[in-house]
Amino acid sequence: PYGDDEARAAPFLRVTGIDKHFGSFKALSNVTLDVEAGEFVCFLGPSGCGKSTLLRIIAGLERQNAGTIHSLDQDISDLPPAQRQFGILFQSYALFPNLNVRENIVYGLRNRRLASSDIDSRLNELLELIDLKGSEKKYPAQLSGGQQQRVALARAIAPSPRLLLLDEPLSALDAKVRVHLRQQIRDLQRRLGLTTIMVTHDQEEALSMADRVVAMRDGEVEQIGTPTEIYHRPRSLFVAGFVGKMNILPGYVSNGRLTVGSLSFPVPAPYDTPENQGDVIACLRPEQLRLRALTGSEAGDTLPARLTHLEFLGAFWRASLVVPALGDAEVVADLSSRDMSDLPVTVGDRVGVCLPRERCAVFPASQSGQIR
Ligand code: ATP
Repeated sequence: PYGDDEARAAPFLRVTGIDKHFGSFKALSNVTLDVEAGEFVCFLGPSGCGKSTLLRIIAGLERQNAGTIHSLDQDISDLPPAQRQFGILFQSYALFPNLNVRENIVYGLRNRRLASSDIDSRLNELLELIDLKGSEKKYPAQLSGGQQQRVALARAIAPSPRLLLLDEPLSALDAKVRVHLRQQIRDLQRRLGLTTIMVTHDQEEALSMADRVVAMRDGEVEQIGTPTEIYHRPRSLFVAGFVGKMNILPGYVSNGRLTVGSLSFPVPAPYDTPENQGDVIACLRPEQLRLRALTGSEAGDTLPARLTHLEFLGAFWRASLVVPALGDAEVVADLSSRDMSDLPVTVGDRVGVCLPRERCAVFPASQSGQIR
């Protein structure tokens, strides 16, 4: 639809240099990010990092102290919420208890002057989308939490918003419903091509749903990337530690070589930067470690270790190992059932633990305060 180059060059949403203070407290600091049309973006971070505030500013519910918001080429920084034509869904279902499903969804269309036949066809379309056909006469109290949230979603998307904003929409639901609704929201978002921003503190939710994740800490953007970039190539120790479990190993970099215990190898890209000098922290995910039978002449990436704990976690086993060559540091390795049948291990065993050097993420030791 955007024929000329200028319109195509502008992202659907551009947030530039947003600051937000509450009294003397700085909730957001110089936040800049783009969202492309049709994208599903997650704001991810711990409680209090400012993600809801940022969403509310984008919605127009909160006014920024500095910075601008553009949609395509329009400056919408000062537009009232209604004129932005964004749909919003919050954590609590926020349905009207005295209105039935039909009336709740149609409420989203109240400002449209639509013929009743158009309303009916839109309603039917939405009921089908949220898989609640036949429930239009039910009241919220007769629905499960997941069903209520689907009705609230239908109400939010009823007027075909230009952008859908979701603030922790799944966090009040129990685990099974949450995973199911995750997929439903994502399918529906793809099918409708609906540009969406979702706030969550749940890293698994963000990784599984987002096209891109905006990782936030203390009111600042730490990293923006695809879920695999965020998980495998974190750009700070904070992101590394917040998104999944990490083994954190002290190391040292000199002349481009990283020394961890008795291992020494070139600092892997993209961590071979000038700031990674001297004391560093090397990180490896538990599923990246491999166990090997000890041969007595270990070389390369493998260090002798003693297995101290073994937990069965259903989909995998989690082994804790003490590694003398790392100053008796404890590392954790996640083992699949295949790993376990290839090399059955048990507590007390002496095994080799293989640290895949090219998978190491490396950060300056000065970041160690970022791990909570
Ligand atoms: P949560 O998931 O806990 O809501 P969040 O990352 O969404 O966390 P925000 O709700 O955006 O965080 O809040 C960011 C910070 O700003 C918090 O420290 C919060 O206490 C503070 N804050 C938010 N709204 C206000 C307000 N209206 N007045 C004062 N402080 C506020």
